[in-house]
Amino acid sequence: MKSDAPVPLPLAEARRRITAAIRPVSDIERIPLIDALDRVLAEDLVSTVDVPAHDNSAMDGYALPRDRSAVAPTTLRIVGEARAGRPHVGPVPADACVRIMTGAVMPADCDAVVAQEEVVIDGERIRYASTIRPGQHRRLAGEDIAAGSLALRRGRRLVPSDLGIAASIGSAELAVFRRPRVAVFSTGNELRDVDEALDVGAIRDANRHTVLGMLRRLGVEAIDLGIVRDDPLALAAVLTRACSNEVRADAIVTSGGVSVGDADHTRAVMARMGAIDFWTLAVKPGRPMAFGRVTTDRGSALLFGLPGNPVAVMVVFYALVRDALIAISGATAEPLVAVRAVCDSAIGKAIGRAEFVRGVLTDRVDGWHVRATQAQGSGVLRSMSEANGLIVLDHQHGPVAAGDPVDVWPFHGLI
Ligand code: AMP
Ligand code: MG
Repeated sequence: MKSDAPVPLPLAEARRRITAAIRPVSDIERIPLIDALDRVLAEDLVSTVDVPAHDNSAMDGYALPRDRSAVAPTTLRIVGEARAGRPHVGPVPADACVRIMTGAVMPADCDAVVAQEEVVIDGERIRYASTIRPGQHRRLAGEDIAAGSLALRRGRRLVPSDLGIAASIGSAELAVFRRPRVAVFSTGNELRDVDEALDVGAIRDANRHTVLGMLRRLGVEAIDLGIVRDDPLALAAVLTRACSNEVRADAIVTSGGVSVGDADHTRAVMARMGAIDFWTLAVKPGRPMAFGRVTTDRGSALLFGLPGNPVAVMVVFYALVRDALIAISGATAEPLVAVRAVCDSAIGKAIGRAEFVRGVLTDRVDGWHVRATQAQGSGVLRSMSEANGLIVLDHQHGPVAAGDPVDVWPFHGLI
């Protein structure tokens, strides 16, 4: 790893370096399905059963014998009833049919269903005029998940539909990776906790709460190590603690102290305790950002030294740290999806760095539009709460004129 990087690193290169440094969690635990949302699957889940287990009806109607399918108009007598969970047993002769409900097993002699809306009932008989396609309204055994097929892949971060799939194939317990442990602290002599008195010049520590919130959304285990003074000894102590048996952090996320001010010690302490890979990013907001690995005789953790300014903290987290933590979790990559929108604001943009502008997306008759929020200062955290997306202007992007298309990361599902 390089110990200094005088030229701000392009975001794409920073992503590459972080990816190269990642060691995914490999410890595996077995947990009940009910607790598995957002956990990362540690094994391929191969189904031993067909889902559905039997051919069944997709409609409420009448199951028709095989050779009836193509014949219309037709009159058939009703010889039985099949309900979900209560099959019809016995033969269905060629001049007969079976009343069938959605989800009920197809009787052995039947291959199609005529919907009840298309049927006229006449005592114990039905009549219908429509031509029936063979296999019509019949769901096939295994059409959702076939026995022997891969139902869910290792590395999948489980979403609600996955939990339903696991239930369908009878997986009451799942093997998942241990959740990564992420230690969090804020640095700065001016910082006070939310319940502390504010002396002149002091500010409350907003970043720790923002970071803890973002980590919770990612489903990692966050360990709150509080506020740390701008003091090399205090910093060394907290980094040592993060790597100790008590905390056992896989990663450490800090904020503040990574720019070039006199009080910015994080970088120097990091360099002493491990290795800095880079410490300036070609990103606005978010230029000062230290990345490296801290190693003690107890353990080692990746360190993400985020900027101090609250908006920069969030931007860099979403632009870099999120993907890294997903990879550390053992999950396959989940790149953010961008919406293409017409930008109603003109935005000054320098070529040679990525810029992230807080935006408000609206759905208009002609598609998505976005405008920049009023306040764009990297210290104005309110701009994040007022926005519902980040306008992403990449390294090579020039100034944006009103009416230009831009990419936006919607906050929906992210923040
Ligand atoms: P630094 O990089 O440490 O000089 O911080 C840059 C700016 O962010 C300064 O104005 C800090 O006061 C502010 N800042 C740093 N940490 C926090 C925090 N945890 N919460 C709110 N603001 C912070
Ligand atoms: Mg500071």
